[in-house]
Amino acid sequence: MTDRIPLNSLIQPHISTLTPYQAGKPLEELARELGLTDAIKLASNENPLGPSPLALAAIQENLHTLHRYPDSHAFYLKEDLSRHLGLSPSQLILGNGSDEVLDFLVRALVPPGGEVLSTDHTFLMYGLLTQAVGGVFRIVPLKEMRVDLPGLARAVTDQTRLILINNPNNPTGTVFLRQEWEEFLDSVPPHVTVVLDEAYIDFADDPLVPQSLAYVAEDRLLVGLRTFSKAYGLAGLRIGYGFGPSKLMDYLNRLRLPFNVNRLAQVAARAALTDQLFLERTLKVVFSGRTWICRELERLGLSYLPTQANFILIRVDRPGREVYEAMLREGVIIRAMEEYGFPYHIRVNVGLPEENQRFLQALTKVMGLNG
Ligand SMILES: *Cc1c(COP(=O)(O)O)cnc(C)c1O
Repeated sequence: MTDRIPLNSLIQPHISTLTPYQAGKPLEELARELGLTDAIKLASNENPLGPSPLALAAIQENLHTLHRYPDSHAFYLKEDLSRHLGLSPSQLILGNGSDEVLDFLVRALVPPGGEVLSTDHTFLMYGLLTQAVGGVFRIVPLKEMRVDLPGLARAVTDQTRLILINNPNNPTGTVFLRQEWEEFLDSVPPHVTVVLDEAYIDFADDPLVPQSLAYVAEDRLLVGLRTFSKAYGLAGLRIGYGFGPSKLMDYLNRLRLPFNVNRLAQVAARAALTDQLFLERTLKVVFSGRTWICRELERLGLSYLPTQANFILIRVDRPGREVYEAMLREGVIIRAMEEYGFPYHIRVNVGLPEENQRFLQALTKVMGLNG
């Protein structure tokens, strides 16, 4: 049948021109391709300590229930989360990763031709999800490598439905502060939903960085997004959530497939929320590793952006893709950044001290620097 009618004439144009999201290279793939078994991965901003031990225990305890469907409404997890956040369960939406909540938002709010505003040099999913619904993705340039909130507010048109931003911003690690955020919220017209993706908020130690939670209200179209993938160490389980006005959450909930958050993810997330010790250990490793890597980069004369996240954007002044390939051969997986609009940068996330050291050694060698 595809002989008679070319398939691409049947696929919607905004779908046929989509390119799949390029994830960080998995360790298993590098092992397969180069036979490297002692490689390290610092490419996807994952937790270097592994999963929360309390989450692991909860998973083990619940393995024997895997023949049962999950609770479609994740009643207990929502109860725990609502207590944790000081919101009502009706103000929450759970997703198969916070990526899925983004998908709900875009599908619920953006008609074909509707505009989504974001910035350049940001999380690639925002553009991909917009394109998938036939929306128009408009970007406002970063200003001094930071999200330009006044610029975003000025760029709003009658067609704008959503503003998608993250703070700290992936991949720059830069932040906007409370005062600019509050002025921005006040200047966004009421037909626009603002989504603040806080995947890395736990790693922001500047007290002036705003938290979306403090601004969520029933009469304001603001949604905060959080994930268990980074600070909580559960990226492989796929669970994240959003919070915002109950009425909007109710609409998003209608788009949700019945069992989008699996059983193990639900019990693991509940346990991880109580694992204060693990979170503290994570922050300690990230803060000290971040400081150490930055100091070493300075010693080597490499420039990087000051970061409030668990990753660092580094300028290498040569194609980042070449540095990435050469680092792979050293068994260190990092990220080339040309898709993010930085052809001469790499991004690395903070690992364990020995991983950070190995990264620095490999980078010194690959860049031909004097360590
Ligand atoms: C990692 C990341 C997420 C989290 O995605 P999950 O689907 O929850 O794993 C969301 N937003 C940004 C900007 C990220 O970098």
